[in-house]
Order: sequence, then C-alpha cells, then structure tokens
Amino acid sequence: MSTVLSSVPSAATSDADAVERIRHLVGGEARPGASGRTAPVFNPATGRRTGELPLASSEEVDEAVAAAATAFEEWRRVSVARRTKLMFAYRNQVAEHAREIAKRLTAEHGKVLADAMGEVARGLENIEYACGLAEHLKGTYNEQASTGVDVYSVRRPLGVVAGITPFNFPAMVPLWMFPNAIACGNTFVLKPSPRDPGAASFIAELFHEAGFPPGVLNVVHGDHVAVNRLLEHPAVQAISFVGSTPVARHVYETATAHGKRVQALGGAKNHMVVLPDADIDLAADSAVSAAYGSAGERCMAISVAVAVGDSADPLVEAIRARMEKLRIGPGDDPASEMGPLITAEHRDRVADYVRQGAEAGARVVVDGRRAQFDGDGFFLGVTLLDHVTPDMTVYRDEIFGPVLCVVRADTYHDAVELLSDNPWGNGAAIFTRDGGAARQFQEDADAGMIGLNVPIPVPVGYHSFGGWKESAFGAHAIYGPEGVHFYTKPKVMTTRWPDPAGSRVDLGFPTNR
Ligand code: NAD
Repeated sequence: MSTVLSSVPSAATSDADAVERIRHLVGGEARPGASGRTAPVFNPATGRRTGELPLASSEEVDEAVAAAATAFEEWRRVSVARRTKLMFAYRNQVAEHAREIAKRLTAEHGKVLADAMGEVARGLENIEYACGLAEHLKGTYNEQASTGVDVYSVRRPLGVVAGITPFNFPAMVPLWMFPNAIACGNTFVLKPSPRDPGAASFIAELFHEAGFPPGVLNVVHGDHVAVNRLLEHPAVQAISFVGSTPVARHVYETATAHGKRVQALGGAKNHMVVLPDADIDLAADSAVSAAYGSAGERCMAISVAVAVGDSADPLVEAIRARMEKLRIGPGDDPASEMGPLITAEHRDRVADYVRQGAEAGARVVVDGRRAQFDGDGFFLGVTLLDHVTPDMTVYRDEIFGPVLCVVRADTYHDAVELLSDNPWGNGAAIFTRDGGAARQFQEDADAGMIGLNVPIPVPVGYHSFGGWKESAFGAHAIYGPEGVHFYTKPKVMTTRWPDPAGSRVDLGFPTNR
C-alpha cells in the first residue's frame, strides 16, 4: 500500500513527540509538500501536536488536476460492469477498516468512538448507493416520437470535479462526494479540512487498494490557496463544497463566475419545536443527543429548542437533569459520551458566546464554562440557555459548539414564524403526538430536511441532503439521486432510420406492410 500517511518521526526525541507527516496523493503517488508551507494537526483530547500537513501551492493543485484530467480520458470509457466491481471492492475495504478509520477520526477530530463509527456507517451508505451505478446511469428511450423517429437520452460524466470538505465529518463528507462522482465516470480532486486530514487520506489510500486506476481520485491538502486555485482552474468542471456559510458563498460566487457547476452547502441553526402534547422524555433525550453529540459540531445539530406554551418548564428541567449525567472525556475512552472541541481557539470562542448570552439576559441553566478538565485538551462543558430571544447573538450566530438555546413561543404559529425569519434552513424538527400538527409542520417549516419526532433528519444515502436559504447555494442537493444529476450532463439523441420498406438489407420478412 502506498503510504499517504507515513508515520515519520520528525526531530522527535521520544515516541510521544512523533508527528505524522501527511502527504498529498497525486496520480496514485504519495507526495510530500513542495510549497514549504505546513500546518500542525492536533489531538484535541490531549492538545498535543500529532501531525504535520503540507499546504499545497497553486502549482501543486495544477499537478493534481492534470493527473485527474489524464485519468479521465481512460476512466470515462471503463465499462459499467468494471466500475461496479471496483466500487463493491471499495465498499468492502471501508467496511473492513471501519474501526481504523474511526480511530483516526477520534484522534484528530475528538468525537467519541461510537460517533466516529456512526460517521463511517453513514459514509458507507454513500458508497453502497454508488455501487448501484448501473441503475442510476440508465438512460431513457422514447420509441416513435414522430413517425420513424426515436429519441433517447444518456447521462455523461463532466470530467474533473473537485470536492472541498469541512472538519466536522472528515470521512463522511468526502464520501458524500467522490464515490458518486467517480461512479458516474468523473475523476476527482479532494481538498480535505486542514484540521483533521488523516481520515480523508486513509480512505483515499483504501480507494487505491480497491484497484481504482491512479489519478481517478487525488488528494491535495491545503488552505484557501488550494481552494481558490480549484475554483478558478479551467480544467475543473464542477465543485462540491461543504463548510461554513461565508466560505460557501465565496465558493459559489467564484466558481460560477469561472463557469463551473457548483453545489455549496453552508452553515445552519437548526430548530426543534416542542408542542405541549409532546412526549417530553423523548424530546429531552433527543435534544441532549442532538445538541451535545459530537460537541455540537454538526451542521444538523439542534441549536435552538422552541418550547411552545406549557412545554417549556418541563422540557428545560428534563434537559437539565440529563445534562448532569453526560460524561465528557477523551473520545477513545468508551465511557465518554462527548469529546473535546476541534481547537483551543474554537473552544474559547464558544465559551465567549455563553458569556454574551448571559450578558444579553438569557438564563444560564447550565454553564459549560464551570466544568473542570485535567490536561491540555480542548474540552468545554455543556451549556443550556433559557429565555433566549431572537435579537441575541447566541440566537443569531452559528455557535457550532455544545450550547443549546431555548426560545419560548406562545403558539405553534409563533414557532413557525421564528423558523421562517431565520436566515438558515438546513434541518428542522417537531416533537408532538398530533399527526395533524406534524403534517402541517412538514408543509410550513422553511427548511430542506424535516424531522417528525426525529431530531437530526439526515437523509439516507438513497435520498439527497440539502438545506435551503443560507444553508446551501446552487441548484442540486448533495449525494443520492441529486448527486448523480450533479455529476452528469444529459445528452439526447434524436434518430430517424429509413422505412423498412426502403431498406436495402434483406430483413427476412415482408417489408411492404
Ligand atoms: P470552513 O468553511 O471553515 O472550511 C471548510 C473548507 O473550506 C475547508 O476545507 C477549508 O480549508 C476551506 N476554507 C476555509 N476558509 C476558506 C477561505 N477563506 N477561502 C477558501 N477556502 C476556505 O468550515 P469548517 O469550520 O471546516 O466546518 C464547519 C462548518 O461547516 C459549519 O459552519 C457547519 O455548519 C458547516 N457544515 C455544513 C454541512 C452541510 O451539509 N450543510 C455539513 C458539515 C458542516
């Protein structure tokens, strides 16, 4: 196996000081960085620097795109049968190495192993969907559209496509993209998050182990320099982006200005509406797992609970009681239910939001800043803010940490209006026992993914994922059927052949009918 992740001790004096030198993957070859720029990678549970990441120059990005462009000329012609076999082999590689991938996720992102295993499982769904490429790429056919005229359409690959991914799902989000793109006949350049790049490098290595030709999947590590080159590169046909809203907007505007097809998924502020008739235990369990799971660093995390009418006091109390029992610690400790945040700076930023909420008049029911932790990890306790109002920064901004805001609403209509006024529209959930109210919410909620008594309604791999409003720019949702459409362009053939009566070939039957 080519070692994209070769563990090379740097100027290490002991094993504890060893840092992993992460490499680019270009044309099937693991390459050290040539730009002279690097970034550190940390284990957030210990605060220790564990890796060194090369930050690609524009020229290094050009090399990766060139490798993908060369590979495309052959890959586009590889049969559907062969592509399917390779994708099945990749599916098995990822399934067999699930635990190893999960351990890398925990080591660099900090999420607990159970969450990391869940991330791998959700990523696998997308590879499994891509395994059905023979079905997804079937064209359409209309016989006798006009007399003697048949019309049919096929979907063709675009060419080289690029994916730019965020830190919070370092394996799953790349798997939202490249399996479908490559199954459709494209070649791919992946630019993972610089904060936790190890899992993406590892799943790319497994991809080559599965037997895919060199250059079909390339990985360049880097920051805005690499991203901006991909957005402008004339040979890149399409960009899939997942990250924060300001960067998603920049990606969308720049890449479309350069003539590319773009899907750019952004940030979120997901609301969970709790009606007075809801099962409060179910709602509280859901709120705690959806707000604090993965330290709140999920784009589908619940960050606002909208308590309608009489539900507010029992809901706040039920959530508070559960928070006391939450075990926060290193992700590789099986007893931990929540790990650290991604960086020390981000932890401090989240803690400062708690301060701002308190100063603005929110009631701090549980203050995560009070929690004590040993060592230098980037840990923060969980926070519950009650009586939050829409003018507060804790309501307006995406905090992306373990902070849950409770907004009290008098009626269902007030709750729905709150959702409509919110600039984001990723997910929204309602908790109720009333089927009529739930059905009405499906229609009223101004968001792309809706949960009915389900707090995190991430669609399965054979549907598609996409928010509305400031949570997504571009026309297509990501993965599933919309992903296949995004990564292909239609070609339509209109055909006419001579009437059989005029045929010069002996067809073996009377043709003068
Ligand atoms: P981010 O926007 O900081 O980074 C995402 C990617 O963009 C990274 O690869 C990064 O290197 C690159 N990037 C960052 N700044 C850039 C710049 N100025 N110019 C060009 N490229 C740049 O996001 P993050 O902090 O890694 O991830 C968290 C964010 O992602 C949250 O806002 C979260 O809601 C969002 N997210 C959204 C979804 C979704 O499906 N909508 C899924 C996961 C995460």
